[in-house]
Amino acid sequence: MSKSLNTVMIPPDLGTRLRVLDRLSRTPQTLDEYGTLLQERIRKDLEEPGSRAYFQKIFKGTEIFGHVDYETRHKVQLSGKEQVHVACALDALIEGFFQPIRIDSTCFHCGEPVQVRMSRGIADRVKPSSCVVWLGASQAGEGSCETYLCPYINFFSSSEHVEEWQATNPNELGMRLTLQQGLELARKGYWEAVRQSPTETSQQEY
Ligand SMILES: [Zn+2]
Repeated sequence: MSKSLNTVMIPPDLGTRLRVLDRLSRTPQTLDEYGTLLQERIRKDLEEPGSRAYFQKIFKGTEIFGHVDYETRHKVQLSGKEQVHVACALDALIEGFFQPIRIDSTCFHCGEPVQVRMSRGIADRVKPSSCVVWLGASQAGEGSCETYLCPYINFFSSSEHVEEWQATNPNELGMRLTLQQGLELARKGYWEAVRQSPTETSQQEY
């Protein structure tokens, strides 16, 4: 399970974009470092009451991480609740640390359905089992992650489909992650940042 992220290098041009768009203190060179820097940024965000309130709702299941009001290719369903769209593939995986969910998405290359069931950060049913995550970013521009980052983070049904897609889109900025690497990034970058904060323990029941 704890397959190390620190040997997985991030292409420098992608790292530069992640630093800008995720507001990191430096350019991450490995996936592990990216997780650490995200964690640092989120802990800082949590000093803001608004951000703390947001994550408290996510812990309670009354808010879904990355939920957006427009249509995306990624839908998240909490048990007994309606499906909602989330901004990117990583957002969907992050939510699966907070609540048991089913993610419905599609391969960015061929449109084939991709389904991941998760509970407590573990993906227990993955269809197709070969699915991977593309961690990409826009080439230029500065602003919200929703615009410049999220549309570039997607599931693919297999590594082969990433390669086929890359062959026709050679200028796309990004890297392929195994689903497990995507989960570990979600754990390190987000879940560990929030779980260890006062957010969880100060949670009150109404
Ligand atoms: Zn495909």
